[in-house]
Amino acid sequence: METIGICGAGTMGRGIAIACMQAGYRVRLYDIRPDALRNAETAIMEHFQRAEAKGKLSEPLDTLRARLELATTLVELLPCDLIVEAIVENRAAKQELFRALESLGISPRTIIASNTSSISIAALASVLHHPERCIGLHFFNPAHIMRLVEVVRSARTSEETLQRALAFVERLGKTPVVVRDIPGFVVNRIARNYYNEALRLVTEGVAALEQIDRLMRSAGFPMGPFELMDLIGVDVNMDVTRSIYEQHFHEPRFAPSLLQQQYVDAGLLGRKVGRGFYAYDT
Ligand code: NAD
Repeated sequence: METIGICGAGTMGRGIAIACMQAGYRVRLYDIRPDALRNAETAIMEHFQRAEAKGKLSEPLDTLRARLELATTLVELLPCDLIVEAIVENRAAKQELFRALESLGISPRTIIASNTSSISIAALASVLHHPERCIGLHFFNPAHIMRLVEVVRSARTSEETLQRALAFVERLGKTPVVVRDIPGFVVNRIARNYYNEALRLVTEGVAALEQIDRLMRSAGFPMGPFELMDLIGVDVNMDVTRSIYEQHFHEPRFAPSLLQQQYVDAGLLGRKVGRGFYAYDT
């Protein structure tokens, strides 16, 4: 496996690209928005430049730069050995992308992986002629730093796909953990309560969001729930909550928060736009 295709050049696509480039893979990065692709290239190279300035780069900058190619059409991803999608958290959009990849004629040996935070891998694979090539590779944010990758095997994933995906994650220097294909897998299923309960406390007027973040940090969590939602993207986090709620047949304990919806509607999406629950220097 030498060339990795990445669909979606947002927060996660960039981090996954950096991790792959550092591990010696060639990366083809694709996004439907040309501006997102250009911004991603700039952000990725700035990341490596900062690392170089700190003396933390193990290879010359030019060697790393040469590993990144920007793809403006999906066809350019055809030669890839593995394609990871990190597009919007929406089942229909991901299925549409998978259908398009197969109809363009990718090899049956190409692994199609999803970085979904919550959506059933079996449901995504169901649109493929070769569902055995599909697997979940759930990276955590920031993807080039966080070591955990939940590897989600659906009922249709082949043993060969699983083994090749595990080898890929290990070559990235990360820790793969195989989990079952349930909504939100393990980490996001548990984490829903972290966000939802915090949002409920603020809505009920029990505590201010800054207090909740401080308390949870004091209790040993590296980040409070509101800081974490700002890092993830308030909209992305909301999509994941909605997806888990819907896949659990609207179980009330997973119900999304009206307060969070109001932040999304107002465009207060977190760090990526400079303002969410907190304001940031951009
Ligand atoms: P993002 O909004 O930052 O980026 C998504 C990118 O996908 C955008 O650049 C958008 O233009 C592009 N896109 C949308 N539809 C596309 C399509 N059909 N084809 C190609 N590109 C398309 O989102 P993100 O935070 O990077 O999240 C991406 C995925 O990763 C989601 O499934 C999300 O649930 C998952 N995820 C996110 C986090 C996180 O902390 N943000 C963590 C783990 C997993």
